[in-house]
Amino acid sequence: MFKTERIAYGPVDGLQTGRFGASVNTMSSCYRIGHTLIDTGPPNRWRAVRAFVDEQHEEHGIERVVLTHHHEDHAGNAVRIKKHLGVPVFAPKASLDPLAEGFPIAWYRRLVWGLPEPVAAQPVPDLFPAGDDWRLKKIQAPGHATDMVCYLVPDHGWLFTADLFIARKPRYLRGDEDLLQLIASLRNILTYDFDTLFCGHRGVVENGRSALRDKLRYLEALCAVVQRRHKSGESIRHITKQMLGRDGLLSWLSGGDFSKENMILSCLKTGQHQFA
Ligand SMILES: [Zn+2]
Repeated sequence: MFKTERIAYGPVDGLQTGRFGASVNTMSSCYRIGHTLIDTGPPNRWRAVRAFVDEQHEEHGIERVVLTHHHEDHAGNAVRIKKHLGVPVFAPKASLDPLAEGFPIAWYRRLVWGLPEPVAAQPVPDLFPAGDDWRLKKIQAPGHATDMVCYLVPDHGWLFTADLFIARKPRYLRGDEDLLQLIASLRNILTYDFDTLFCGHRGVVENGRSALRDKLRYLEALCAVVQRRHKSGESIRHITKQMLGRDGLLSWLSGGDFSKENMILSCLKTGQHQFA
């Protein structure tokens, strides 16, 4: 049920780990570039993450942990690595409170990822050295989470996207995700120069610019069609079923928090903005 895979792409090493099954694919990725570890994997995969971290520390020397957002599948082992290696943890400013004080986590997420321990982090600078002459530039990318950021490696076309990409055509949305912000973040990120994504779940995505552009176009088109159909009198349930298929196991397991209906409802909420 658990699966772990290694990623090696130029100077970047990574680890993908999580549950993998017929109906759930919950692999989460963390990466090392220079002396910096970006994200830390889910708390229930600590053994696999620790082995990766130990190896990377021995070979390259890890001097800091940098987080993309507070979610447990990204920040879940930050405090353990902090203690294990004695290194500081950096995170976006808006992540510091939820990281230090904890935040509500629905039971299905506890089941999939485990429960994180709180961690005291410092604000991550806008541009910072990652070690071995690599620099990382922080780019705000709210939507999936209000505090989420991406990290760009300027002049190399590499972008650590956290949960901005995940899929070209997502059909599900979590209750706490903001679709309008997500669309704005996709538009903004496409103004930067990059082509390879280091996705927080999928691993390396080449031709990442076109992948993100596809996602943006898909979401804009979905919003436009949903708004049109709803205006003409179709019910939410009918539109959901017609456009995304029936809500299934994931929606049921999450008590409706992670569902196709959320995606359609969010498309409607963007209604004051024109996507047609
Ligand atoms: Zn997340």
